[in-house]
Amino acid sequence: MNGLIYKKHIPVKRFGQNFLKNKIIINKILQQMYLKNIDNFIEIGPGLGALTFPICNVVNKITVLEIDENIVFFLLQSKYNKKMQIILTDVMKFDFQYFFSLHENILYRLVGNLPYSISTCLLINLIQYNSYILDMNFMFQKEVACRLLAIPGSKEYGKISILAQYFYKIIPICDIDKCNFFPSPKIDSVFLRFIPYRIHNQKQINRYFFALELITRIAFQHRRKFLNKNISKLFSQQTLLKCDIHPFSRAEDVSVYQYYLLAKNFLKLYF
Ligand code: SAM
Repeated sequence: MNGLIYKKHIPVKRFGQNFLKNKIIINKILQQMYLKNIDNFIEIGPGLGALTFPICNVVNKITVLEIDENIVFFLLQSKYNKKMQIILTDVMKFDFQYFFSLHENILYRLVGNLPYSISTCLLINLIQYNSYILDMNFMFQKEVACRLLAIPGSKEYGKISILAQYFYKIIPICDIDKCNFFPSPKIDSVFLRFIPYRIHNQKQINRYFFALELITRIAFQHRRKFLNKNISKLFSQQTLLKCDIHPFSRAEDVSVYQYYLLAKNFLKLYF
């Protein structure tokens, strides 16, 4: 095997192609996902099928979203091609709202070993489709996983921690050393499962997502500033106190629940 070629494919750096190569790790991930043949899977970035093919061994059908034409060609030739609905697309431009609305009564399981360059943006985009999702099972670089799991007061805690933790219970499945990928990336990874909290209907999810995204974006613009300075345009000191937030606390000290109270007040005040 040429040092640059993996399964007759030259990994494309700009598509973040670091393929999972360790079967023990792949089995561990899949075991933790408790696959059933009736599951409705959407895989983001199937690549050369490391997760896709074992999933195809269990499920009846899987939709895969892939940006690389050569990989789509490879998948079309595989023995699992009848089980896969293969969509050649840039997932960042994919219309999830339209896709989910085609079958309103289906709950989807999402899976993917996500390319680092798009993982945070993609996750923020997907968070709001909570009501169509049974669970999401994604591989992240360790640094992103730490931000997703971060607790208030830590330096990793920020907008993405709050948005993800408000809408989903996040369960770490396993740590994966960088040597388990080809080519090997610079950083280790963590596989996480996201299970939606069913607290709102889709209309409310959109409202709370909008409010939380706006408030946390503004609050964390200057994370070391006191809150009464950086979100003073949105909330009075009385409102902060009403939400049990000291006006001289900082964005990183406020809990997810307190951000929820702020969002609730924001929606009451402005909508
Ligand atoms: N799932 C495979 C595995 O675990 O070996 C491949 C994972 S590799 C890290 C990321 C995959 O996502 C590649 O197949 C890549 O071509 C695809 N990809 C990258 N950017 C994408 C995008 N914007 N939309 C859809 N697929 C993308």
